[in-house]
Amino acid sequence: MESIGAKAKALNETIVELRRELHAHPELGHDLPFTESVIVRELTKLGLDEIKSGQGQGHGVFATLKGKKPGKVLALRADMDALPIQEETGLPFASTNGNMHACGHDAHVAILLGTAKLLADAREELAGTVRFIFQPSEETVNGALSMIESGALENPQVDAIIGLHTGNIWDGLEPGQIGWRVGPMMASTSTFSIVFEGKGGHGATPHLTVDPIVIAAETIVQLQTLVSREINPFEPAVVTIGKILGGSAFNIIAGKCEVHGTIRTFAPEIDGFLKKRIRETAEGVAASMRGRAAVAFTVNLAAVINDKTCALKMRDIVASSLGEEWVREIPLPSSGAEDFSFYLAKVPGAFFYHCSTFHCSGSSSEGAVCNYPHHNSKFDVNESVLWTGSGAMAAYALRWQD
Ligand SMILES: [Zn+2]
Ligand SMILES: [Zn+2]
Repeated sequence: MESIGAKAKALNETIVELRRELHAHPELGHDLPFTESVIVRELTKLGLDEIKSGQGQGHGVFATLKGKKPGKVLALRADMDALPIQEETGLPFASTNGNMHACGHDAHVAILLGTAKLLADAREELAGTVRFIFQPSEETVNGALSMIESGALENPQVDAIIGLHTGNIWDGLEPGQIGWRVGPMMASTSTFSIVFEGKGGHGATPHLTVDPIVIAAETIVQLQTLVSREINPFEPAVVTIGKILGGSAFNIIAGKCEVHGTIRTFAPEIDGFLKKRIRETAEGVAASMRGRAAVAFTVNLAAVINDKTCALKMRDIVASSLGEEWVREIPLPSSGAEDFSFYLAKVPGAFFYHCSTFHCSGSSSEGAVCNYPHHNSKFDVNESVLWTGSGAMAAYALRWQD
């Protein structure tokens, strides 16, 4: 019998066609009617047990495939939104609508549609149920939650979840390889704002005022000591103040001063600890200087922490189904963030990298560069290896309960 790897490879042309169709029609955020229609059109051909469109905030899709054998429920997730970037790839199927698939989410949708086809064809051997999740709005980090709220992890209850990101996030991989890692995979992001309130007045009579700019300055200096003095040096953590707003003229003491910043870590305890200490520091410094501080945390995206069993299974299954050469361990986590962490807060799972870089040929000034970073107007994916993404996901779904 033909292996799942061989079947996936044979499907590459179909996956590429779908990727090009989506690439030419990028859509943003939650507003993805064209993308949704392509997904529904393709899934309808496969005879799945359920296709639910119009999910999330309007254009998310989830679908269900029941295997012929009893077993657990596995979710496979693809994000599908693009970015507000004017494309400069010069590709024949380049976008002309001012938006661009500059993060590879077009390939994610095509890979998951390929996976759905492979699994629908393998229904006789498939144990349990597969839930396909096509998620909007990953770039604005609120799509995963909207799909969970729509019931993407329920009826039947999902037992584990797998997702991947294609492109060049980790540059140590060869085209087509699956990069796996146990534990921390992508960083958490929390955004905070602190509004310091004092008492405004004349710059010449500071004793009649409470100066919130001095309070903010003192707090900013104190916050620099949180990572350097209070976090274990072997735990990565960042506290950055990126923005400060206060005052209107040289001779006026302001009534208010705002600072905005971000926290990056890989452990929820560290994120929680830093939030607590930022609040205590700002409120404490402000109180000691006769002012007040109002601290708010606006974006709260957890780190992507891979379940050990799920990650090791992916390594073993890819190695035995596609071949050892298609799988490699990622030595370090990425400081990028992913809203896949919302699913991982509900069910165990793992997130993988699918390398889709090009082998650059030539060493001349124009020949040496052929891979551009994610979110660059010249970003592209190596279409010839998209099949390993579909093959890895399909193999996982077929073998994860062995
Ligand atoms: Zn992105
Ligand atoms: Zn992305």
